[in-house]
Order: sequence, then C-alpha cells, then structure tokens
Amino acid sequence: MNVEREKIDFDVVYIGGGPANLAGAIRLMQLAQAQGIELEVALIDKGAEIGSHAISGAILNPIALKELLPDFKERGFPLEAEVRGDDFYFLTGSRALRLPLVPRYLHNEGFFVISLARFTRWLGEIAENLGVNIFPGFAGTELLFDEDQRTVAGVRTGDKGIGPDGQPKGNFEPGIDLMAKVTVLGEGARGSLTKQLEQKLNLQDGRMPQVYETGVKEVIEVPDNNYFAYGQANVMHLMGYPLGMDRCGGGFIYEMAANRIAIGFLVGLAYPDCDLDPYDMFIKFKQHPFVAALLQGGRVVEQGARTVSTGGYYTLPDLAVNGGVLVGGCAGFQNTPALKGIHVAMKSGMLAAEAIGAALAADDFTQSRLNHYRTLVSESWLEQELYEGRNFAQANNKTGLAKFFHLGAQYLTKGRGLQDRMPLEPDWQTLSPATRDNIDHAHASASSDYDGVLVVDKLTGVYLSKTMHREDQPSHLIVHDTNLCIEQCYPTYGSPCTRFCPASVYEIETDDATGRKRLKLNPANCLHCKTCDIKDPYENITWTCPEGGEGPGYTIV
Ligand code: SF4
Repeated sequence: MNVEREKIDFDVVYIGGGPANLAGAIRLMQLAQAQGIELEVALIDKGAEIGSHAISGAILNPIALKELLPDFKERGFPLEAEVRGDDFYFLTGSRALRLPLVPRYLHNEGFFVISLARFTRWLGEIAENLGVNIFPGFAGTELLFDEDQRTVAGVRTGDKGIGPDGQPKGNFEPGIDLMAKVTVLGEGARGSLTKQLEQKLNLQDGRMPQVYETGVKEVIEVPDNNYFAYGQANVMHLMGYPLGMDRCGGGFIYEMAANRIAIGFLVGLAYPDCDLDPYDMFIKFKQHPFVAALLQGGRVVEQGARTVSTGGYYTLPDLAVNGGVLVGGCAGFQNTPALKGIHVAMKSGMLAAEAIGAALAADDFTQSRLNHYRTLVSESWLEQELYEGRNFAQANNKTGLAKFFHLGAQYLTKGRGLQDRMPLEPDWQTLSPATRDNIDHAHASASSDYDGVLVVDKLTGVYLSKTMHREDQPSHLIVHDTNLCIEQCYPTYGSPCTRFCPASVYEIETDDATGRKRLKLNPANCLHCKTCDIKDPYENITWTCPEGGEGPGYTIV
C-alpha cells in the first residue's frame, strides 16, 4: 500500500519475543554495558503482551539460563515445579506399562517445569530493565532490504485498521519501518518471515528439509489429593496409544504449581494418513484409563497448540545473511531426543548476540562477519547436543521394528546409528490419497464424548486459549487456489485441513441450492500453530501475520 510510513533507526531489531530473542537481547545489553557502549535495541512481538503466544512443553534445562543470569532465583524466576524424577510409560489400548529404563536424554531430575508464557514475560521485564525497547502488539509482516535485495535492512510492522476488502478503514494506522544494522529473526517454528528469507536467499540449499510435530497442550486444575501431591516422579513421558508405533509422537504429563498439571500430545507431521486428526489423538490420549485416572476431577484452565521444528542438525539453514541472523526454533534449534527446545533456543540467541556485538564493534554487518555466530555455535555445547540427535527425527519417522533398531543403535553410538544422514521427506509430501474408508473412519472415530470441563472440543479449546482476532479484516490465511481445494484436494485427500487444524479454521460446506462444495475459513479461531502452512499436501496455504496484538492470549500454558 502506498502510504507514508514512519521510519525509526536502531542498532539491532529483534523479531519475536520468545526465549531465543529475549535471551539474545539480554546478552547483547549485558555485553554493551560491560563495554560502556550505548545501543538502541528494539524487540517486537505479534502477541498482545510478551508471553501471550508462548507455548511449550515445558521443561527447562537451566544450562543456558545459568550462563545468562546466574542469580536467576534471586530475580524471581517463575518456577512451577522442580523435577523430582522421570517415568516412561508405554500405553496399550487399556494399560500403562512402566518401562524400566528412561533414555538418558529424558533424565530431567533437577530441571524445572515452567510456564513458557510466564517465563518469557519475566525475561521480557529483565530485557526492558536493561534498556531494550519492547513493542508487543507489533507483527513483523515484511523484511526490508537494501537496494541489492540481499542485505536485510529491517522490518516493516503490519498496518492496522484494514477492512475485509483490503482498504483502509477510518482507524487505519500504517505500519512502521524499523531499520537496523542487524535484524534478528526469532519467530519460532515455521516463522513466516524466515520462510520468505530462506526462499529468497536459498538458505536451505544442501540441507535436509525441516520437519515438524504439532502439539496440543492443556493446563488442568486437579483436586488437592492428586497423584503428584504424594512425592512421586513428577514428569511422565508416554508413548504408544493412540498413535501406535508406526507413527511419530507421544504424550507428556508434568506437575505444575497450585494443583495444576501440564498435559500435551505431539504428532509428527510426516504421517501418511489423511484421516489423522492431531487434536483427536490428544483427546484419545487424555481418555486412556491410566491418563484419565490422573486427571480425575480436573478442569481445563487453558489450552493451546503449536508446531515444533524437530528435524535437527542436518536441517539447520545458513544462520547468517548480510544484515541478519536466525535464532531459536525458526532456525531449527531443537534437541529432539530430549524433547527440549528452550535452552538451545536461548543459547543460540546468546551466541548470536556475541557475534552481533563483535560486528557492531567492527562496524561490519556482512554475512561473513555475522557468520562468526555459526563458529560460536560449533564451538559450544549447543553443537554437541544437536549433533548427537542428528539422525533422531529420521529414525523416529520409521515404522515397525526398523524404528527401534535405528533408535537403539543411535542410543549406543551417540547419534550415528545404523546409517548417518538418513534422508528426510518434507511433511507436505507424505500424505497418501484417501480411500472412502479413510474419510468414513475420520468421521466415525473423532471423539464426541466431550464434557466441556475436562474433555473439551476444538472450539472450546480456542475459547480457553483466549484467542481473539478482529473479524472484519482480510484473512491472514492465504489459500492460493480455492478451486484446487474442491477439485483436487477434496476427492484425493478428503480435505485434510479440516482435520489437521486444531482450531476448526477450515470447513468444507455444501451449497444448499447448487450442491457444490466450497471451502469456508474461520481465521478468527486461528491459534498461530502453523500446521496448515506445513502439512497442506499442495502447499496451497500460506500463514501470514494478522494484525499485531491478536491471536492467542496464553497466560500459563
Ligand atoms: Fe494452526 Fe493453521 Fe489452524 Fe491457524 S489455521 S490454528 S495456523 S492449522
């Protein structure tokens, strides 16, 4: 849109208020203070507040936090529970078998159960006190480039007050151009600007494609006399039912403060079954007799969903470009075997900050200078952690006994396993065409015994995520070809978007008069999980940022 925009210059602009960027901004300000340098640093986040889009497991390995803020406890670190021990269960249809061995990656004793929403809010306050200009409610919608079109020069925030016809309304406010010597992308898994940048500058060339899991998570309030109140191991990892062993994914249950339990279920998006509904898997997991007994008498207080990038080491893109770096989940930093991303995201942000500090000192923001960040990653424990899990996602996506042979061999050989660099297929290419049975099965098997209190349907889940979007704006979900949805996707795959979306954003309607099918979108429900942008079998859906300040309003998940 051709409007006059305010331009503000900064030294560094951070896009995204997750743990990678917040830790990075704190480290950068610490370095600047130690050297007596004044920096102008901004951090924008599309959520209404820092933390309102933050959702994760979340067990925190405190290794990066201790490096960043050694006095974190004195600073009021928001702890939910200290991990007393881990239990690992295999679920059959009716039983839970406690496995005698918990893999070493999943030893969390002494780590912390946190709420990522609370943790990032706390980090945000520390960053602000160090002088970072924090702007929640501002979505980065477009990267700005120098004339060469290869040097990132900043970010444009989204316009506000656009009507559904794309025209400015009376309350229109143009976005602002935040110009920076270095722009840091820390958008989390499948960042929309990161995706554009990777395509524009071919940052994934020679790498394996990123793969993802979608997780649905709840915080449930349970009675005082709940299972964890008696001192048992307070972290549970569960595999088996309802996904079975031929699919990738599983559940977790953690103790939180104040008689609350965090429960979640993740589904690897490389599945071939077009009738699979990750939300329905989560509900079935909750209804397993073993899990249901733990939750008895409970009430869901918050729900949310998000994808996680799980491809690991071989999927990492170029981490630096001229004028910019990628950190955290949008760059693919995840310790997948350990099911943890927060500490590696934080460390990536902190190492990037050190490289940015050196680039500022040298007044050189070229890719070759900023690539010092990649060198720092290589020299740190971060690289070691990622390298040990380099073949894990590949093995985890295998079926039957092959999965166990590969995982077992990797366990014994510190990650190499039976075959190094096994290939990965992008998630959008893995669906098999539907049979009539698949679609009937999808309808027949979907859970319907919701009680609205402990077992809630997708729409109640959206309500419990406190998601809000202004209805009269252009859809932030771009379906590039709606004819393809009806003429190809519906007959071939049975419109899997109506199942893989955890928020019922996609519906197929039949026109009463003509009998024709059409796609109906409910973008106001969107949880910003990004599953549709990843799993659509025609890559026909692009997720873009709605107006800043909209989306989920997480407070404790
Ligand atoms: Fe997730 Fe897409 Fe559904 Fe939004 S529309 S909740 S991003 S799958």
